[in-house]
Amino acid sequence: MKRIYLDYTATTPTHPEVVKAMSPYFTDAFGNPSSIHSYGQEGKGAIEEARVKVAALIGARDEEIVFTSGGTEADNFALKGVAYANEKKGNHIITSPIEHHAVMETCRFLEKRGFRTTYLPVDGYGLVDPDDVRRAITDKTILISVMHANNEIATIEPIVEIGKVAREAEVYFHTDAVQTTGHIQVDVNKLGVDLLSLSAHKLYGPKGVGALYVRKGTKLTPFMHGGEQERRRRASTENVPGIVGLGKAVELAWQEMSEEAEQLTRLRDRLIKGFLEQIDHIHLNGHPRMRLPNNVNVCVDFVEGESMVLNLDLEGICVSTGSACSSASLEPSYVLLAIGILPQQAHGSLRLTSGKWTTEEEIRRVLEVLPRIVAKLRAMSPLLKAGN
Ligand code: PLP
Repeated sequence: MKRIYLDYTATTPTHPEVVKAMSPYFTDAFGNPSSIHSYGQEGKGAIEEARVKVAALIGARDEEIVFTSGGTEADNFALKGVAYANEKKGNHIITSPIEHHAVMETCRFLEKRGFRTTYLPVDGYGLVDPDDVRRAITDKTILISVMHANNEIATIEPIVEIGKVAREAEVYFHTDAVQTTGHIQVDVNKLGVDLLSLSAHKLYGPKGVGALYVRKGTKLTPFMHGGEQERRRRASTENVPGIVGLGKAVELAWQEMSEEAEQLTRLRDRLIKGFLEQIDHIHLNGHPRMRLPNNVNVCVDFVEGESMVLNLDLEGICVSTGSACSSASLEPSYVLLAIGILPQQAHGSLRLTSGKWTTEEEIRRVLEVLPRIVAKLRAMSPLLKAGN
């Protein structure tokens, strides 16, 4: 059975051209970029080339890019780095309740060490209100962190407006752009951000590499101590093949992004329309228009997300659900709860995310299979029998 992959938000396949670009850096060009001989300089040159590409994609200067081990490290570095470098000024951080765990858990870590976090409310689409940001700022606020687009429900946040608020108040502003970089326009100056996280494996690059954009002049304490790599901001021998892969992925995104976004928007809208027409009691999560081009997130009443995922998997269709399986219980997604979805509805969530290699034929197949699976599961559903 030919499988259909609709989980591009979890990770993208690595582009064959990215693999090709990385390959020599595992073998012939294996040098340590800190070595002054030609092997080392080869690696160093490749890193600097990738840095230029990443900077160009997001409208930054080369020296404002710090390579990291991924989006999680970039988020950790932004939050902890600003917190510790600015603790004399204040201890207050503002964020949203729908951030990725990489931001949420870092805030919780900092809270245990004397920092205070305000979690702004979001509306039914997951949007943060820039006026709420303004009202939350105090003289102790050192950082605002609001994601560019949410990884579950795909809502794109009003970053430009929040950036203006941050600038007026002279508070550092970080955005997690892991889900947007390489997919929609990301420009650090237009967005008005001081820090921005991105990750290679969400844009057809390899896993385990990402970057943090740090606006010149931003006070940031490094949290990796050791050598002098990345201008002393992030110690450790650089992941040369990974960084080269990120550079190649960014270069391809630059060429292909807008056409891909148009194609994915068409497929996304066809899927949404088909679901709404063919399945009763189904609701779209996230903003209908201000959303990522590749994301369909729905709640299907009276069925469990996990059952749908497993049944789709048996048919060769790989998608994800917003519910996370914890050891004993099934916890509904905190993102869906934050936008006001009831726990019993949140349990029936399904996320289908398409990408470069998704075809119309695959979308047609999903539209044929999912309604059948939902009907089968509902026929067995105690929730429906109880008339809930
Ligand atoms: N931030 C967002 C919004 C994400 O979707 C992810 C990954 O799912 C991350 C951060 C973490 O990125 P990485 O897997 O590169 O650590």
